[in-house]
Amino acid sequence: MRKSIVIALGGNAIKQADEKGTAEEQRHNVATTCRQLVSMLKYGHRLVITHGNGPQAGNLLIQQEAGVAEVPAQPLDIVGAMTQGQVGYMFQQILQNMLWEERLSLPVVSIVNQVLVSEDDPDYQDPSKPVGPFYTKEEAATLKIERPDYIIKEVKPENVERRFRRVVPSPEPLRNIEYLAIRRMVDAGIVVVASGGGGVPVIFDKDKNLKGTAAVIDKDKAGEVLATVVGADVFMVLTDVDHAKINFGKPDEKNVGCVGYSEMRKLAAEGHFKAGSMGPKVEACLRFIEWGGQKAIITSLDKAIAALMDQSGTRIVPDVGCSV
Ligand code: ADP
Ligand code: MG
Repeated sequence: MRKSIVIALGGNAIKQADEKGTAEEQRHNVATTCRQLVSMLKYGHRLVITHGNGPQAGNLLIQQEAGVAEVPAQPLDIVGAMTQGQVGYMFQQILQNMLWEERLSLPVVSIVNQVLVSEDDPDYQDPSKPVGPFYTKEEAATLKIERPDYIIKEVKPENVERRFRRVVPSPEPLRNIEYLAIRRMVDAGIVVVASGGGGVPVIFDKDKNLKGTAAVIDKDKAGEVLATVVGADVFMVLTDVDHAKINFGKPDEKNVGCVGYSEMRKLAAEGHFKAGSMGPKVEACLRFIEWGGQKAIITSLDKAIAALMDQSGTRIVPDVGCSV
């Protein structure tokens, strides 16, 4: 059956952990990812793609800081928009080339996409998301004087020299600002890349105008908002493990296969899925089912098609039960 699927791609879909992040490396990884996406499109599924931007934004922030004597650094919301363009462009070009090769006349478009958050979000009180370069104690002290608005935290143990990093809030995504445009494009049969890096975080200022905010939204949670907006049948999170696991990293570690909503909620409450990695993926999937979604999948790129056919991956479904 043809389905509409929102796919959230993890960091390794664009840059592997051991790579520097050259354009060639990134193009190679994006091409590997796009081959799987093409297979799904050949089945007739409709796809909306979202992606992380952690390594790209990290590298760009380092460049900005290194070049600050020559050209002014840009604020974090603009860095977010820049990396949406960077990653979106690679998908737009590589996926389009592959589709033409397959004689599939589907247009591919990536958009700069804003996501609304609230400045009342509790994470603004105690920001949790590290961004950009690591600093020594001295560098951190200097930076604090130059940029009094920055919050800098010690994020590595005391024996590590460069252990300080800027942290920003990671607020909950409330609304996808360009949702109507995305919905119309999807309805018109366009393959859309949206909400990259969790979306550019924006707030309403006192005059009810949109304004960028120095924050980073979790890309899986923002992906879920995107999935509900387009009324997706399936929300699929592709990462570097083929299942969410219980007792992760312990001798009795076990894959979660097909699982009902309430059972997965219980496993999440028991703390099996780590904050900042698997935790938000599971939470995003649970929210998708709460909203009325029929299936949320967590798996790796190479198991994506098997997971769609209920043969692999973690599949979270409404409580009525698993189809296999
Ligand atoms: P991505 O960059 O793809 O968004 P993350 O690195 O944030 O992915 O999250 C995936 C990682 O989550 C896995 O590589 C694994 O180390 C970690 N993880 C934490 N808890 C679990 C769990 N219960 N089951 C599987 N993986 C887990
Ligand atoms: Mg990762």
